[in-house]
Amino acid sequence: MARAYQDDLVSVNSARLRAEGVIKPDAVSATIRFGEGADALKREVRVWHRQFRNGRAQSLFYCPHCQGKAQILKVYDGRIQCRNCLRRAGVQFRAAYGTREERAQSREKRVEALKAKLAGGSLRVHPRGGRGIERRRELELSLRRAEIRQREKLLEVER
Ligand SMILES: [Zn+2]
Repeated sequence: MARAYQDDLVSVNSARLRAEGVIKPDAVSATIRFGEGADALKREVRVWHRQFRNGRAQSLFYCPHCQGKAQILKVYDGRIQCRNCLRRAGVQFRAAYGTREERAQSREKRVEALKAKLAGGSLRVHPRGGRGIERRRELELSLRRAEIRQREKLLEVER
């Protein structure tokens, strides 16, 4: 069997599904679709909520496998699991365990994704108050760090 990476698995994000209304603020569970179209796997997944004083709220999944709280769930081997369960099962991220080329590609993708976020996109989901600016600063820092890592790795290859 080919080596599987967490990066390639079908995944769902509780924050996105909450924003899209799939996860309702007071629900104990939600029907989650993993994948697209007729092949999609549909499962009832328990959810957890937290309400912040500033009016913002957060929803997480309970991992059906380990019962731990998780923002991301993925499908591997027909089972729905969190990242920790996958790591325990030996499924790693390409950035950490891939070949040199795979790691470089994954760093490049991360830089591109951060640039796209800074250019708009998902930042507009939370336009409320100072939070957008705060998030922007976090993203800019992440981008700078990712670019530095990328440059370091390029130098390593040349050496
Ligand atoms: Zn788990």
